[in-house]
This record gives sequence, C-alpha cells and structure tokens, in this order.
Amino acid sequence: MPRQKKRAAVVALGCPKNRVDSEYLLGALARAGYEFTNPADTKRRPNLIILTTCAFLKSAVAESERVIRKLVRIKRNNPETELIVAGCLVQRYGEKLKELFPEVDRWLGLNEMTKIHRVVGGLSGAPARLISTPAHYAYLKIADGCDNRCSYCLIPAIRGWFRSRPIEEVVAEAEALGHLGVKELILIAQDTTLYGKDIYHSPALARLIDRLSAIKGLVWIRLLYTHPAHLTEDVLEQLGTNTRLCRYIDLPIQHIADRILERMNRHYRRRDVERLIERLRMIPEMRIRTTVITGFPGETETEFIQLRDFIRSVQFDRLSGYAFSPEPGTMAYQMPGQVPKDLARKRLGEIMRLQAQVSRQRLRRLVGSEIRVLVDMPGAGRSEWEAPEIDGVVRIKDAGIAPGEFINVRVTAARTHDLIARKI
Ligand code: SF4
Repeated sequence: MPRQKKRAAVVALGCPKNRVDSEYLLGALARAGYEFTNPADTKRRPNLIILTTCAFLKSAVAESERVIRKLVRIKRNNPETELIVAGCLVQRYGEKLKELFPEVDRWLGLNEMTKIHRVVGGLSGAPARLISTPAHYAYLKIADGCDNRCSYCLIPAIRGWFRSRPIEEVVAEAEALGHLGVKELILIAQDTTLYGKDIYHSPALARLIDRLSAIKGLVWIRLLYTHPAHLTEDVLEQLGTNTRLCRYIDLPIQHIADRILERMNRHYRRRDVERLIERLRMIPEMRIRTTVITGFPGETETEFIQLRDFIRSVQFDRLSGYAFSPEPGTMAYQMPGQVPKDLARKRLGEIMRLQAQVSRQRLRRLVGSEIRVLVDMPGAGRSEWEAPEIDGVVRIKDAGIAPGEFINVRVTAARTHDLIARKI
C-alpha cells in the first residue's frame, strides 16, 4: 500500500519580511515531503499546522492570538495534528504564551524558525524557499534586524541588531528567483538603505542594485523600507538612471515636526526631509510613498497641523498612516504627554481624508496617458508606481490577459487609489 503523504498547513501573518520567513518554512516542508492543505480542510486534514505570527503592534498581537485560538479549536477536533506557533509573537512573549495556550505543541522563536528543517524532517543543506506570491513577483530579504532604535518600535528588541546578507548570497537567490520566472523583485529589510554597512563598512545598496540589474529575466527591482537618514546619493542616482529600478520609493517620514522627530529618535529633521524630497522630485516620473504616525506622545495641535500641511504641500503619491500605539518595552510607552487614543485616531482620520483627495488628484493627471503594466490577475495589474499589497492597482477592462505579462494600457479614469485602463 502506498504510504500516505504528510500534509502541512502554513498560516502566515504580518509584513512581507514575515512572509519571506514563511516561504523558507514552506520550502523546508516541501523538501521534507509534505504536501500543502488548509488548516480547516476536513477531507485533506493536515498532520502539521504552522502559524507564523506578528507582534509589532498591539493590534498585531491581538490578531495573532485570535488566529491561535482558531487553530486550537481545529486541533481539538483533530488531536493528532501537531500545532506549531512561530515568529515574532514567540520572540516577544516567550514562556508566557505556553500558559495561555497549553494546546500548542511547539513554540519557535525567530532563531529556531531558521532551523525548521530539524523539526520537520532532519534535512540539511542550503535553505530552500517556496514563494507564496504570484509567480511573477517575489520579495527578497537583503538584511534582518535594525539598529535604529526608533522610540516607538519593538522590532530591534524582537529581531535583533541589523545583519546584512552577503551580496553573493542575495544575488544567488535573486538569480534562482529569476530562473523560476520572477519578473519583479522587491527588496526588503527593516532598513534597506543601510544594506552592507555592517559587513562592508559602508552602505552597499547601490552596488547590490547594480548586480541585481544584470540578472536575466528580472524586469523590475523595487525598493521598500528606505530610511530618510540613510538614503545615499548613489542610490538616488540609480533611481534616476537605472531602467530596471522602479521610479518609486517607500520613504517613511513618520512626522515632520522637529521636536516629534527627535522624540521618535529618527535622526533627521524637517529640513533634511524637505531636501530629500526636492532631490527625489528632480527625478522625472518619480513616485513617493510615505508612512506617518499621528498622536505620538507630546504631539501638540500645532505640530499635528504642521504634519497635515506638509502632506498637503508635498503631495505624496501614496501614504499609510497609523495612530500611535504605545507598546510596552519601547521608550515611547513611558513618555510624558500621551495623546488620548480618540484624538490620535481623529487626527489620523483627517490625514487619511486629505491623502484620499491628494491621491485622486495625482492619479487623475494620468488619465489619457499610456503606461506599462505588469498583470497580477485577470483584470488587474500594477505600473512601476504601485507596490503589491500596499498600493492601489490598475484595473484593466480586458480581463483575458495572463498574470505575469507586461502590457501597455491607456488610462481611462482614476479612482481614489486605483486607475482604470484599457489594453492598447
Ligand atoms: S527603522 Fe525604526 S521603525 Fe523601522 S524597524 Fe527600525 S526601529 Fe523600527
């Protein structure tokens, strides 16, 4: 009788950096002979369920715990299924979780996650990776950890010091992804602009981009998570001249009032951000995404208005906003001048309404123009100015185009965050 295949279900929460960790996990499971199923599939029940968690903010912790409870209910009906919870939540709370969820079989912190092959089947050798994004784009993690110590952020405590991957290793992984048919590579790290500083003693992001640009098959390289204090002139030059590098930058400014930036420990001032944006705007067709936090401890009404007016005048193409969330273990948690939650949310609402107007106006300028789009799914794609999962999309009226194809489209209308277009 043929031996029954082992089945695994992997549930991944959190950011693209977490997604990449989960993709190594999927690779290790595939190499260990597992096939994949859903946690709740009653016909193809999993022998193993692995949840990778996020613990960046209180809301992410709550979401992780909600999913653990759901998986515990599934395990109660199938007691033979092994339930493993891994990632940032385990790194942040460790032992406490065992008391809360005794039904979970194993807890794996971030370091143990890299040794998952020992858990699933004693494999050794180079780490395998199975991408969970559509086949034509993939995230490429170039470093892990963070040295910046922003006063509101737990990531350095969870992920440790900044550690770049050697350039050869990153290039080899990018080549492998190119062979698999990946056309868009999205570079990620907690701080991509610092890439190489720890191992090559000076930032090496521009050098890395050069090497990646020579890889056959890769058409777009996209930069996420750049730090305004670390963006170097050689990367800015690449943004203007390298035709493979998307003319798009994710530049989280977080605030604009100098006093708040100092309390956030961001290592730049308003004037630095203004200069950087001026420089970026000199690059033709450059698009800028940012992130801001409202209601940071001590934020006065005047400082909030400075932020709002700055957003109005700069006109970022894309913007994500967060109301400050006090995280135990961070410096900001104990800072005097905590802003009431409702006020922080009200300010966020004001920023997001403003950004909706800005976004609509900026997208409207594209109506009538021809743009190049990478099709993500029938009826929707993205230009070089949209990152997957965080920005809007280009809705394409001709639905019969295969995902992964580049096509030229004519923009016919603009919505708040999306464009409507027709294939040319
Ligand atoms: S740069 Fe700041 S916000 Fe980003 S991960 Fe590092 S400490 Fe956190």
